Amino acid sequence: MNKSLLIKGGRIIDPSQKIDEVGSLLIAEGKISWRGKGEPPKGDYDILDAGGLVVCPGLIDLHSHLREPGYEEKETIASGTKAAARGGFTTIACMPNTNPPLDSQTAIEYIKATAAAEGVVRVLPIGCISKGRKGKELTEMGELAAAGVIAFSDDGEPALNSYIMRQALDYSRAFSLPVTDHCEDIVLTKDGQMNEGVVSAKLGLRGIPNAAEDIIVARDLALAQLTGGWIHIAHTTTKGAVELIRRAKEKGINVTAEATPHHLTLTEERVIGYNTNAKVNPPLRTERDIEALIEGLNDNTIDIIATDHAPHTEGDKLCEFAKAPFGISGLETALGSLMGLVHKKKLSLPALIAKLTYEPAKILGDKRGKLGTLAVGAEADVTVFDPEREWVVDTKEFASKGKNTPLVGEKLKGKVIATIYQGKIVYKDESAK
Ligand SMILES: [Zn+2]
Ligand SMILES: [Zn+2]
Repeated sequence: MNKSLLIKGGRIIDPSQKIDEVGSLLIAEGKISWRGKGEPPKGDYDILDAGGLVVCPGLIDLHSHLREPGYEEKETIASGTKAAARGGFTTIACMPNTNPPLDSQTAIEYIKATAAAEGVVRVLPIGCISKGRKGKELTEMGELAAAGVIAFSDDGEPALNSYIMRQALDYSRAFSLPVTDHCEDIVLTKDGQMNEGVVSAKLGLRGIPNAAEDIIVARDLALAQLTGGWIHIAHTTTKGAVELIRRAKEKGINVTAEATPHHLTLTEERVIGYNTNAKVNPPLRTERDIEALIEGLNDNTIDIIATDHAPHTEGDKLCEFAKAPFGISGLETALGSLMGLVHKKKLSLPALIAKLTYEPAKILGDKRGKLGTLAVGAEADVTVFDPEREWVVDTKEFASKGKNTPLVGEKLKGKVIATIYQGKIVYKDESAK
């Protein structure tokens, strides 16, 4: 068992308990054992000086691509969880678009065993909606649920067949698990490269209109209403989708939604110069869409922020724009880029932390332990970061095999200083005291 650890004198922000105060946190035997402003209970422990730093529950990412099994040249569970730790994440959910896809109990067991052996943070698998992600036949959802999946998704592709989606929403009710949809009308987006608009016209690239997302979001909400099932909208990017989700919530439809750091902070202009590292699906949109997403975060239309971490090799992205795969490697820049919203006063710091801790923990429920909280007795998953520290994104420092980010060379303000998973320090900045 690890030695106890005292995280001393930080600004403790824990939205699950509505706490925002300077204090200390004691971790013993993998759990939070004490929190307070004064002297901690006597004992033998290491000390992490958190003066001037924020101390919050370990971040939770419900949407990442770890690429294993099948695409280990892009990422592995080992490298992806190291990237997560560097990004302040202690829990990540991995999407099932691997090879083979995570559509069987055996595949889920493989993820769990590999994560236990090689992962440095918690990995929670998401199972496929359809066998082989082919959209034709449902998986054995009961078996996947029993194996421990936290959601069902054919991400990478939408569940375009409405009958399959209806069945998935219907069956998933029995397990109280969400069906997460990648909302894209792929008939409409065929050969699409980037957001459809002035920039795509200028660059001569085929566009992906907002309507392609809005259409499927509207359909999914209608099917959730029909079945009473739980739909989770992955990577929301359009103003129209935010409005649809907001209205659905008002009507009492069982819907939750996420937005990614890149869609919250970057516009389609990033593609100018045919930058393949800004090629992502759904595409980077416009300032108007970003404003709507932020409004959605603030009024809880958008429940959580998830990275959609999608690592690729350098070779994958070193090609002409049309041939490059979609995706941004996002785990290690998420907090730094999102802190930009806080510095610009678009989102409060406690609200940002809630979207990365307490809110995703609510979606997980309590089946995976007490996560997303610093309550005494909870898992000692803790993130310590400096909200004011500036740093320059250097992909050579990434733990992820995916160096594909449009943020290369950019200065971000807000840096992870230490990540503690189950009481053990799994990442520490060299400057940490
Ligand atoms: Zn997707
Ligand atoms: Zn994804």
